[in-house]
Amino acid sequence: MSENALKIENLSKIYPGDLVALNNISLEVKKGDFYALLGPNGAGKSTTIGIISSLVTKTSGLVELMGIDIDVNHSKAKKNLGVVGQEVNFNQFETVLQILEQQAGYFGLPRKIIKERSEYYLRNLGLWDKRKEQGRNLSGGMKRRLMVAKALINNPDLLILDEPTAGVDIELRRSLWDFLIEINNNGTTIILTTHYLEEAEKLCKNISIIDKGEIVKTSSMQSLLRELDTEIFIFDLKDEIDSKSISNSPFEIKILDTYQISVEINKSQSLNEIFGYLNENNLNILSMRNETNRLEELFLDLTEK
Ligand code: ADP
Repeated sequence: MSENALKIENLSKIYPGDLVALNNISLEVKKGDFYALLGPNGAGKSTTIGIISSLVTKTSGLVELMGIDIDVNHSKAKKNLGVVGQEVNFNQFETVLQILEQQAGYFGLPRKIIKERSEYYLRNLGLWDKRKEQGRNLSGGMKRRLMVAKALINNPDLLILDEPTAGVDIELRRSLWDFLIEINNNGTTIILTTHYLEEAEKLCKNISIIDKGEIVKTSSMQSLLRELDTEIFIFDLKDEIDSKSISNSPFEIKILDTYQISVEINKSQSLNEIFGYLNENNLNILSMRNETNRLEELFLDLTEK
């Protein structure tokens, strides 16, 4: 048995006109994980999800769901997958309950289970009062939550959500988050795409950051946040550096070359502390600069949006 819920290897997608939407991306999502694919608009998130759910054909690369290659056994690979895409995927003239019950019917679930599960998901997603409404009368956020219920009705092992809270107002966003955390705690692997750092931070254990069709970072959420909280400065020194002089440093210091060091400091630390330390150890500073950090820039970009 594979321990991965999803494995992607060297996946590329080139749209007509040589538009590279995905350039050789690889990632692995372990069973039980809550994984974010974070990136700005146009990064390639929907394309990735489209390929996993067979709505988009890949140009090259491998996709495995629960250890099964989607090219080898497509229907078996997709059996335990629930996907919530961006587009409304139900008949808007049917009622909320009909939409769910019909979906459950596709999976051949017994009548009693269909009733129980439909009620369970509709109540948990705040749609029970709307069960007799036609789909077209729901607000954008409600439609999205109905799509989540529809994707979950066969209790899939892996749930993939493309921008789940787009168009969902703040209050309901929180309750949707709580619900997703609950089903993840109950064993469902969840992957979501988002362009909100806050959403990834609240929900996800692991994360890949995608930009212009490339994965720029894969990390646990915890170490990513730690990394974002630090800054790296480069110091040019007057004299040759002796590694012994910094061996007991309270800072993360790396010797880059004979006259150059980098120092990693926490954003809450004052620069005076590092100047004081270098001074005490007779390291004379000629110049200093902030190391540009692509990740940092990307995040600024994401948070501003
Ligand atoms: P995201 O979901 O991160 O916003 P997408 O996967 O939708 O990004 O898009 C990635 C890139 O592929 C973008 O440059 C987008 O314009 C392009 N793209 C997406 N869908 C198509 C398509 N059907 N035809 C041509 N280009 C597309």
